[in-house]
Amino acid sequence: MADLTLKNARWLAPDGRFQDGTLVIREGVLRLSEPPHERAPVLDAAGMRVVPGAIDSHTHLREPGQEQKEGIERGTRAALAGGVTTVLDMPNNAPPIDSEERLAAKRKLFAQRSRVNYGLHVQAPYQGAGRGYASAKIYLARSSALPALGPGSLQEVFRAHRCVTVHAEDESGFLPASGFPGQPRSHHLQRPRAAVTSALAAVENALGSIPFKERPRLVLCHVSTAEELAWLEHVKSMGWDVWGETCPHYWRLTEDDYVRVGPQLKVNPPLRTQADVDALLSALAVGPIDFISTDHAPHLPQEKADEASAPSGIPGLEWYLPLVLELVESGRIGWSRFLELTSRNAARCFGLAGRGLIKEGMRADLALVSRRPGAPKPALITGAGYDPYPDAAFSWCVERTIVNGRIEGQAGEEVVT
Ligand SMILES: [Zn+2]
Repeated sequence: MADLTLKNARWLAPDGRFQDGTLVIREGVLRLSEPPHERAPVLDAAGMRVVPGAIDSHTHLREPGQEQKEGIERGTRAALAGGVTTVLDMPNNAPPIDSEERLAAKRKLFAQRSRVNYGLHVQAPYQGAGRGYASAKIYLARSSALPALGPGSLQEVFRAHRCVTVHAEDESGFLPASGFPGQPRSHHLQRPRAAVTSALAAVENALGSIPFKERPRLVLCHVSTAEELAWLEHVKSMGWDVWGETCPHYWRLTEDDYVRVGPQLKVNPPLRTQADVDALLSALAVGPIDFISTDHAPHLPQEKADEASAPSGIPGLEWYLPLVLELVESGRIGWSRFLELTSRNAARCFGLAGRGLIKEGMRADLALVSRRPGAPKPALITGAGYDPYPDAAFSWCVERTIVNGRIEGQAGEEVVT
């Protein structure tokens, strides 16, 4: 029974302000108006801030199929370190999650092994019923060993699902490494922004060809360019049900970092320019970005050693809340926006009932954070084995993560049904 009392708590309320008092958790649910249960364990939260646990809508925990890279248990321990209480895991497993049978098998593994709450995305085209998953994912560029979905299939996928997440890079716009002689680190040049704008045009065309009421919700994953931000503004201004997701590496790092550091920072979409970073920081403050994911995509250290053969993807879970809290610390965003970006909007977008806010009757998914300038770096847990932000100094740290009322989570629950 997950009863817990947080005394001396200062929690982030749905209005974006902090409230002080005692937070009572009964059977994993927030009961703000009830007296503490006399036998419930008590946690003293003095000096900390209690915020909703982060909802990371985009992870790759590599199980089933590539457990050597990460696995659910290890990946969700990394999530706990970063203050993440829910992960929505992507379907590009080996083999991909593109059938009901494979979805059921993956769900069973998460039920056994996940330390945080979870939901699963499926891979388009998907053979199965239209419920029980967070979204159907479209890769317009090859991902791992999977072929890209051609623009011609977009309309079909849009008609088949209620929510579609899209990796918007058009593979036909990529350039060969041989086109950049003398530039050993040209990954970012091989995947130019023209490939993004071409993918967005295809998406807009296909979505626009479907009657308004029959369209799915669309999530533009890992926004990295000013062009995607302009597109989001454009489609949102037309009232389209389109949401924007970005990841910390796109505002903390640039293509110059990639050229300097090498394959550890090889990622898709690639890191971009300082101008894109500036545009993203503005979009985090006032929109059109709706929520932050990590796109946590670990590979083995030895796989990341060689520039040409290194697979793309970097880890992110351990650094989730510390990196977002730096935006608060620097004054770029306020607490209300923090709440939207880390939990509230993802819960709304993916229909995660009873999650994402600290409010009477909601599930007790919480992170206890404290401001400690020069705070210790998060413990490294991921199988990727490296910190993509070795030079970052953090002002905040995650002290405790509570999942369904349990400190440091013991078993997660499925949040998408
Ligand atoms: Zn991804």
